[in-house]
Amino acid sequence: MSEQVTPIEWVRVDYICDKCKTGIMVATQYVICTNPPRYPHVCNQCKAEQVFEVMYPHNRDLFIESKEAKP
Ligand SMILES: [Zn+2]
Repeated sequence: MSEQVTPIEWVRVDYICDKCKTGIMVATQYVICTNPPRYPHVCNQCKAEQVFEVMYPHNRDLFIESKEAKP
């Protein structure tokens, strides 16, 4: 086996508040210890509360498509 290096691009994933549609949900310091764990969030605008199985915001990597691969 040998290592292979692939360039990636990072994006930030925000969850827009379902209530006010303008704020973003921000994870609190707490974790609900279920399986899988759940994370309470609070809207940074209207303070609405929602629980997710992932933390927001988080980063996600995207593959950069090779320009040669496009037709
Ligand atoms: Zn909100």
